[in-house]
Amino acid sequence: MPEGEFWNPEVELLSGEEIRSLQLRRLRAVLERCGNSPFYREWFREAGFDPARVSSLDDLRALPFMDKETLRGGDPRRFLTVPLEEVVRLHSSSGTTGQATVVFHTARDIDAWTELVARCMYMTGVRRSDVFQNMMGYGLFTGGLGFHYAAERIGALVIPAGSGNSKRQIQLMRDFGTTVIHVIPSYALYLLDVFRELGLDPRRDTSLRIAFIGAEPHTESLRRRLEEAYGIKAYNSYGLSEMSGPGVAFECPFQEGMHVWEDSFILEVIDPETLEPVPEGEEGELVFTTLHREGMPLLRYRTHDLARVFPEPCRCGRAHRRISRIKGRTDDMFIVKGVNVFPMQVERVLLGILGVGSNYRIVLETVDNRDEMRVQVEVSGDLWHGEVKELSQLRRRIAQELRNEILVTPVVELVEPGSLPAGEGKAVRVVDMRDHARGE
Ligand code: AMP
Ligand code: ZN
Repeated sequence: MPEGEFWNPEVELLSGEEIRSLQLRRLRAVLERCGNSPFYREWFREAGFDPARVSSLDDLRALPFMDKETLRGGDPRRFLTVPLEEVVRLHSSSGTTGQATVVFHTARDIDAWTELVARCMYMTGVRRSDVFQNMMGYGLFTGGLGFHYAAERIGALVIPAGSGNSKRQIQLMRDFGTTVIHVIPSYALYLLDVFRELGLDPRRDTSLRIAFIGAEPHTESLRRRLEEAYGIKAYNSYGLSEMSGPGVAFECPFQEGMHVWEDSFILEVIDPETLEPVPEGEEGELVFTTLHREGMPLLRYRTHDLARVFPEPCRCGRAHRRISRIKGRTDDMFIVKGVNVFPMQVERVLLGILGVGSNYRIVLETVDNRDEMRVQVEVSGDLWHGEVKELSQLRRRIAQELRNEILVTPVVELVEPGSLPAGEGKAVRVVDMRDHARGE
């Protein structure tokens, strides 16, 4: 059991140069393995790519990108570089955008993934003495089992609560003195209403000190709200099932971007239009190559997630490069009245305004053949039962601040706390009911 600040100091404290030489070594081994897969043999042949001749990380750029479409285009077993008997588990994406994709894991893959997530949790201060309540969905979704195995490896007491059943979640926290939770941020916000309903204050009535929040885009304002209301530190956790799940990038105690574990992934940031690398530090689409996976490696996988790299070294001493908060997916962006909008721009404005409650939704409609954007906003309990004048002031303020941010004036509809649908999974922030979105 490691002592001190680092779960795996040898790897976490590699210098940038050491990381790059480790990456090249591992990449060559991965490419060699890929020769066992019918898909990759064909992929290399079509690209005129000879894996044996790779002598620098840049040589990888001779390969085309993969994405969800590549994975969906046939039997997922064709990506395997081991016999099927060696596969011990499969997971799939949550399928928020179309058909789910499948990833196979060998026992060593599960072990390597567990190590990565344990490294993340340990980095933020989780120890054997902690009680970890995992409020993520178990099953095909990777958020449940990924953290579960890692917390057990650290030696914490794990409560595999799964998602939903809010009152029982709160009961478990109180009965067993939960100190650490893993939760979808929109759900954590919603859960505050349930605490209030029960007459409880999480700061006073629980022992929580850390939350891991991830699986969906969220803003710094949302994080701050959670930190204040729960009296905790909330760390951003990024991953995707195609890269095994959580454990791809994670915040350290300084909370200034998420470290991408570059011993296990090669990160590229590209312009989604030209597919060329963006200048360092500029926003682009994240592309990953797996270096730690033996069963089903993926090469140059396009995530459609937008972020930028912070090139400066981190104060924590880790040289693994950091990425910013995810702004959204390239396919989250919607165009209304000709203007490009990301749901996170709306969230940032809303959560900065006093009186805004814990849920919101953007509805796009066609009215008289024109786009209309309606923003439904739950207001806080006090305000809802207060004066009408205050509500209309709030409505005007929201419309004005949104206009300043996104250059479109939306119709703002204030609704009762708890009245918008709050799922247990990833929040659906945008409902597009426009004629063209429905294929009319
Ligand atoms: P899945 O493969 O179903 O686990 O979904 C992965 C996707 O969830 C990613 O590609 C992101 O779009 C999103 N996601 C996961 N973690 C985060 C995070 N911390 N911030 C923003 N988006 C996230
Ligand atoms: Zn750091």
